[in-house]
Amino acid sequence: MSSMVEYAGPRAAFATLGGSPTWGLGDRFHELAATRGHTRLGVHRPATPYGLGPQVEHYRAPGGREFLRIPTYGQVVDEDPVLHASEWKTFWILWKAGVRVLLVGGTSGSCDWRRTAADEDAVRPGDFVLPQSYLTRDTMPTGLPGTELEFCLPRQVAIMDDPFCPPLAETLRAGAGRVADFKFRRIHGPEAGVVLNRWLAGNGFESLATCRVLEATGRQIGMPVITGDCVSPVLARVCGMHLAYYHVVANWGTGLAPEDPTIVLNRLYMETLPAVAAALELAFLDEASEPTACRCRELLRSRPPEYARALSPRATK
Ligand SMILES: [Zn+2]
Repeated sequence: MSSMVEYAGPRAAFATLGGSPTWGLGDRFHELAATRGHTRLGVHRPATPYGLGPQVEHYRAPGGREFLRIPTYGQVVDEDPVLHASEWKTFWILWKAGVRVLLVGGTSGSCDWRRTAADEDAVRPGDFVLPQSYLTRDTMPTGLPGTELEFCLPRQVAIMDDPFCPPLAETLRAGAGRVADFKFRRIHGPEAGVVLNRWLAGNGFESLATCRVLEATGRQIGMPVITGDCVSPVLARVCGMHLAYYHVVANWGTGLAPEDPTIVLNRLYMETLPAVAAALELAFLDEASEPTACRCRELLRSRPPEYARALSPRATK
């Protein structure tokens, strides 16, 4: 790791990490964007303190706003994201680029306990979800090693109410209702209390046992659980970003039995979803305004200076 690295990529206040909803486009997101009036100004591969970063695409939207796109959560082909510090590299780039609004999309399974055909309110394949909260099963959330955000807990703490910026969820809800030639079966807003069991870059679906646990947990707390990819909401908050997250439910949790004859996974990912999700993301990046009526900034709480002084001082060289 080298803390001497200077960021040499493009800067913008808005960015997207794309994600599984647009996977089916492969490396052709920019072609679809062009048909909607978005110009790709450049493609960069910035160095980061943790090694060579992911690809950073720089766009100008038809309304004139510039934004960044890092494909698929910052993952690099054939590299284990954890082993190669993918999330650190990605967030270091977004932080240095001055990003304040970050759009992330996910797909995957529903572990809603209400599974009979009569359960109209259930979170089912084909639905669009704006989760209210999330569960985390990964290691303790950290900052950005080698920077002043490496371990900032004594100086500031992220309160994780509203991990997904509520006003931006409303923007996404409006956008999802407006997509041309496509209708989500149902749109579940934050008031539905859906919980995202956050998982990034696993090589498999959740096991049947995990899904049953999530199903039972959801029933117990009265909050249906979905599983899917999303970057760390804590890291986004620590880096001062509003996180806009949307999720398209592709299947029931195990991924083994879609149970819905109208939806076949690869057809959904390859044919239906990419153009719909790309249109939604591009419209958001062009039109969303930076929210002022949310608590994303306020929920990163400063702490008394005594807390930092209660730790051992930095080593002197
Ligand atoms: Zn916000």
